[in-house]
Amino acid sequence: MQRTILHCDLNNFYASVECVKNPHYKDTPLAVTGNPKKRTGVILAKNTLAKSLGIKTGDVIWKAKQVCPNLICVSPDFPTYAKYSNLVKQIYLRYTDHVEPFGIDECWLDITNSLKLFGNAFNIANRIKEDVKNELGLTISIGMSFSKMFAKLGSKLAGNNEINIITKSDYKEKIWHLPVEKLIFVGKRRLQQFKKMNINTIGDLANFDKEILIEKYGVNGEYLIKIANGMEPDKVANFNNLKTVKSIGNGTTSIVDIDNYKQAKQVIVYLCESVAKRLREQGFMSMCVHFSIKDNLFNTISHSKSFDTPTNNADDLAKHCLDIFSYCWNFTKNTTLIRAIRISATSLISDKQTFQTNFLINNNEIEKKNKKDKTLDFIKNKYGDSKIKRALLLNASHINCEISDDFFEKFEE
Ligand SMILES: [Mg+2]
Repeated sequence: MQRTILHCDLNNFYASVECVKNPHYKDTPLAVTGNPKKRTGVILAKNTLAKSLGIKTGDVIWKAKQVCPNLICVSPDFPTYAKYSNLVKQIYLRYTDHVEPFGIDECWLDITNSLKLFGNAFNIANRIKEDVKNELGLTISIGMSFSKMFAKLGSKLAGNNEINIITKSDYKEKIWHLPVEKLIFVGKRRLQQFKKMNINTIGDLANFDKEILIEKYGVNGEYLIKIANGMEPDKVANFNNLKTVKSIGNGTTSIVDIDNYKQAKQVIVYLCESVAKRLREQGFMSMCVHFSIKDNLFNTISHSKSFDTPTNNADDLAKHCLDIFSYCWNFTKNTTLIRAIRISATSLISDKQTFQTNFLINNNEIEKKNKKDKTLDFIKNKYGDSKIKRALLLNASHINCEISDDFFEKFEE
């Protein structure tokens, strides 16, 4: 049976939520920016008015202010964005339980089995759009099609507060002329390879020799051709079956009580490596760390730190943890020693959505970090965790490698 899939994408999400919070912003050019106090902060999102005046995502604040001197810049308020993201999903769930989020502001909905109950597909899409607008004051673009990827492309083609329908009879005309990199599976590297094979548009990929692509990419080759033809079998997940992971943490009791900064730092970095690797494996980025210390008299000190730039990188996490550590522990003043440390990454968001904030901060730096992380993960997964180590972690025999992820319960005993 032919499926009916919607892809719903909230328009200018961060900026729109800011305008709902403060309705007077609606008539003012507004941008959500990295750090409004720093002139070097960048634009993460902008409202329609700012956009019409030429403000672009990724612009540095001081440049944007030259273009538009009365631009209002506000810091991102991720907890409120998360709240609205959930409220929107609750509306989607009225129409189907097959709701699969992709980042904070996008969802796929499979409404195939909802047609009997709610009438035709366009009516359902329209009702969803109106519900979101009337109840939350936010607008969405909806793509409607028979495959997930075509629905996603449809929402890109739709204007704000519009529905774009891609059918079996018009997909060739609507989709095939688009550049192949519009498909989310086509990253920079694959794009370069495709260009060499003269695959420039989605249509080129759809009609490419299957055997050649299979020879080059294995089963993925066939999958890519299916996607370009709207034939990939990927289902929209059932919302109730999605795993809700709230935090990822690791802790360890040191083999000997820790009495100096270097040893503490070694344990912190060691734990952060493990937490960051698990975040990457599960497709998350974190925006907050909880840091706890238990001393040798079993007193516990805990602090958290939130940060604007989501991360799943060990160095970043370690830097935040060391900040907390310096603030809450002083070896010269404290009379006790450190027995155990636990680190927990919370405020998790999907790593797929972070490009929105991340690519703007320092693309090169982040790419370098990601490359290093991937290489380390590869070596550790293939040859074992002990096969590659930071210089800092040499001569660290106090570190107990028995780290545990349910350590918190034990920790709080
Ligand atoms: Mg969006």
